[in-house]
Amino acid sequence: MSATGGCGTATTAMAETRRPAGQLNEAILRLLQDAGRPLRVVEIRARLERAGEAAAPSLIFRAIRQLAERGAIHKIEIARGYVAGDAARRIALLCRACGEVTLIECPEAFDALDALAERHGLATPKHMAEATGICARCREQVDHRPKVVAVGDRIVAPRLAEQAGSDAGN
Ligand SMILES: [Zn+2]
Repeated sequence: MSATGGCGTATTAMAETRRPAGQLNEAILRLLQDAGRPLRVVEIRARLERAGEAAAPSLIFRAIRQLAERGAIHKIEIARGYVAGDAARRIALLCRACGEVTLIECPEAFDALDALAERHGLATPKHMAEATGICARCREQVDHRPKVVAVGDRIVAPRLAEQAGSDAGN
């Protein structure tokens, strides 16, 4: 990792302090429950540091693996991040705009995938079902706004226009 920089020593020192088994796991689980969207490992690490619970990457990876094994968290592959909750045999719907993940029960979809895998000679299949799109809340926000906005002599998307506007105000 290249991010060891100036705070590497402090992080290592803290990681070497023995803490009760499972404390880091619970801290990570709480972070993911509060986040409401998938968090990448680097984000988990940064949030732990901000909360005064810094840990070495190897310990964070181990905690994540243990949480995933017991079904407390799940990796959303397309987001390359983790969410709280057991996503086994559920479909993850990821909003590309706000990053929110909804886990949908759909046993019949997985039964169909099982049958398909078996028909093609694939034993004990493990499925991941994920879909990306724009959630209803984000769609509603966008639909009431102009598609493009003129800023000076440029035509830009509304969000960029806000940034350009605040830049110009500085
Ligand atoms: Zn959304």
